[in-house]
Amino acid sequence: MSEKITGSLINAFYICPRKAWLVAHEFGPEPDNVYIEIGKLIAGEAYKRERKEIVFENIKIDLVKTGNKGTTVVGEVKKSSKGQRSATMQLSFYLYRLKQRGINVKGELLIPKEKKKISVELTPDIEDELKQTFHHIKEIINQDNPPEPVKNKYCSNCAYKEFCWV
Ligand code: SF4
Repeated sequence: MSEKITGSLINAFYICPRKAWLVAHEFGPEPDNVYIEIGKLIAGEAYKRERKEIVFENIKIDLVKTGNKGTTVVGEVKKSSKGQRSATMQLSFYLYRLKQRGINVKGELLIPKEKKKISVELTPDIEDELKQTFHHIKEIINQDNPPEPVKNKYCSNCAYKEFCWV
């Protein structure tokens, strides 16, 4: 099951279940959506020197760098810490998928605009939570229709708001 799940889907699920459904069913936001564009710009410009994007299967990791004592760290770049929980779970998912491949690394959530670096580690509790999340996501995306929209703190900046609030 986890093979079909992407980091974007995990991130969306922790924002709201409706967003996860919309992402899974490829209801793309307008390409010029300002929030998407800002995110891409920040992700593209930040950490250019250490950037080494890696892609495997359906996973795309923003950058891989060498951390303290020669450890390998994978980084996920975000435009703000507003969605810190969803970003942390997205990065944890990448760590989980790497671990399944026998690669044990640490993660760093990078928020250049706020000059923040937040360490992320894959703990047994987070692994358990991810496994439960895979089941919840499966239940949601297998429905014919998305869950009803529920106003939350992410709606005002959500790239999908046209699908929810007109
Ligand atoms: S606008 Fe709000 S309810 Fe709609 S997908 Fe985004 S976060 Fe969810």
